[in-house]
Amino acid sequence: MDLDRLLTARGISRREFIKLLTATAVTLGLSASHVPAMAEAIEKSVTKTPVVWLKGQLCTGCTCSSISSLDPGPEEIILDLLSFRYNPTIMAAAGHVAQMALDETVKAGGYVLIVEGSFPTADDRFVMSGGKPMREKLLETAANALVVIPVGACASFGGIPAAGPTGAVGVGALVKDMPIINLPGCPVNPRWLYGTVMHYLMYQDLPELDAYNRPKMFYGKLLHDNCPRRGRFERGEFLTDWNSDEQQDWCLLLMGCKGPKTYTDCPQGLWNDGVNFCINAGSPCSGCTQPEFYAPGFGDTRVGFAPLYEKQNSFALPGIGGIDAPKVGKAMAGVAAAGVGIHLVARTVSGSKNKREGDGV
Ligand code: SF4
Ligand code: SF4
Repeated sequence: MDLDRLLTARGISRREFIKLLTATAVTLGLSASHVPAMAEAIEKSVTKTPVVWLKGQLCTGCTCSSISSLDPGPEEIILDLLSFRYNPTIMAAAGHVAQMALDETVKAGGYVLIVEGSFPTADDRFVMSGGKPMREKLLETAANALVVIPVGACASFGGIPAAGPTGAVGVGALVKDMPIINLPGCPVNPRWLYGTVMHYLMYQDLPELDAYNRPKMFYGKLLHDNCPRRGRFERGEFLTDWNSDEQQDWCLLLMGCKGPKTYTDCPQGLWNDGVNFCINAGSPCSGCTQPEFYAPGFGDTRVGFAPLYEKQNSFALPGIGGIDAPKVGKAMAGVAAAGVGIHLVARTVSGSKNKREGDGV
């Protein structure tokens, strides 16, 4: 269907369409001079793979993170890279016009479904949309999708809402028999999202996934193995006083760092277009890419990562078993003193050097 027929089907005239585009440009912080380019891109996007973005229980942080990217910027993302058909936060249409756009896209099928937020199981009324439980809307929309991409901790595994009374679960607990690529994080990093979508669209196939359906290209490495503070960990130098000048770049394990159990490329890929990441900014990793974030208990067998800023009583680290953090420090300091940890220190030094060269701060 060409754009004119699509507009006619929605009862929108060309003039109204241009008005909508102008309003959208203002919302995105673009000048009106972008409107012709937007119209042209949308015309082309009618034949591109469409993207539908659904929302459950959320803070909208993943949408904000995704359009805060500088390279590619919001205009490239919305106009050139993806053909967004539905995202209630950034689309100009609202109400029944927005619902019509969604219904039409779902009926046609063949779209990428991005999902943000978790879904309540305790009572459907916690999240309703168009008079329907959001859970039903998710299942209907997923049924005709090419691939389902939950973004953020909430959509992937339940996230922070899973710690509350709504019985929140991630998409994988509800949508079965569909290809699912989880992109956890609080929020999702734009690199992970656009890299995954582009990979899927270019190869028409899923990237290599781990046991939690996360792309290994972004979630394949243990943060702790690539942490710029790993040398401090090896020497048993753990920060205990936020106000101590001496301890400013010491290991954050005792302050609740979940890096030893968190798989992510944050230290290499960084955030805010390569500027920084949590640990370099002085914050312990809260493990936001793991299923254990943030729930006090995850399933029957594993302990969750809450509270965020308290040390885990027992981390079963590879090679040294499940022992308390102070003992970890002593044990690992002993290993380093014996010379066995030298390669890890060297890796830390090179990691820090890369960070200094790449962070631009
Ligand atoms: S515990 Fe955290 S701060 Fe310490 S080395 Fe590991 S990831 Fe880095
Ligand atoms: S460093 Fe940890 S808490 Fe921070 S974004 Fe990466 S995985 Fe999440």
